[in-house]
Amino acid sequence: MIYRKKIIAGNWKMNKTQAEARVLVEDLLREIGKFDDVEIVLCPPFTALSAVSELLSSVSNVRLGAQNLHEAPSGAFTGEISAGMLRDLYVRYVIIGHSERRQYFHEDNATVNRKTKAALQAELRPIVCVGETLPEREADKWKDILETQLRDGLAGFGDKELADIILAYEPVWAIGTGRTASPAQAEEAHQWIRKVLGTHFSPAAAERIRIQYGGSVKPENAKELLSKPDIDGALVGGASLDARGFTAIIKNACLD
Ligand code: PEP
Repeated sequence: MIYRKKIIAGNWKMNKTQAEARVLVEDLLREIGKFDDVEIVLCPPFTALSAVSELLSSVSNVRLGAQNLHEAPSGAFTGEISAGMLRDLYVRYVIIGHSERRQYFHEDNATVNRKTKAALQAELRPIVCVGETLPEREADKWKDILETQLRDGLAGFGDKELADIILAYEPVWAIGTGRTASPAQAEEAHQWIRKVLGTHFSPAAAERIRIQYGGSVKPENAKELLSKPDIDGALVGGASLDARGFTAIIKNACLD
């Protein structure tokens, strides 16, 4: 069986000033500096990237991520941030297609595809989010939805590109709601995602890709979710804003 190193990312969303970000990272580093069998990524808002980048400059097991980017390299796009600007701050990962971007900023699968391409061209590792809404889950359409998101979001890529992508399965009904997919539901969706990928990419590439689960992950449910064979990490929103809670989640991803 292939070994996939677990990856835990904290999506801080629109939270934390620079000063607050420094406090959180300093608290975290006291605890997580020693966990090197897990990849850890912190995704602060754009305005705190520089402060967090400085604090992570001497740390080898925690990487910096952004929550979004614009697909163009530069130009007249008021308010937007390019992949090159993120690289300039030593950002290594970028979340793309988060359900909040899809819902509030009208990003669709074609946008996700263009942004993922821009990230890869700049040698940023995209964390591409997919997931169904509650009505889609209840109408038993989740498999079709995920298939379309994967097919269109990853269109034009081959095994080489897939090797640099991380996927996050985030059922929209579980994000920020306190309602988690059961470990069995999450595992079923991850298996489906891997199966779909196996029809568009080589079976080996589909085996290798890491798929995070996201949606109300907390210290109390992390262990069971992360023990499932196809769940290779977590994308954590609310619980990543608390150093103790986030540390506890990471501990659950460490090898026994
Ligand atoms: C997220 O924002 O990606 C997320 C999963 O949020 P939460 O953990 O708060 O549900």
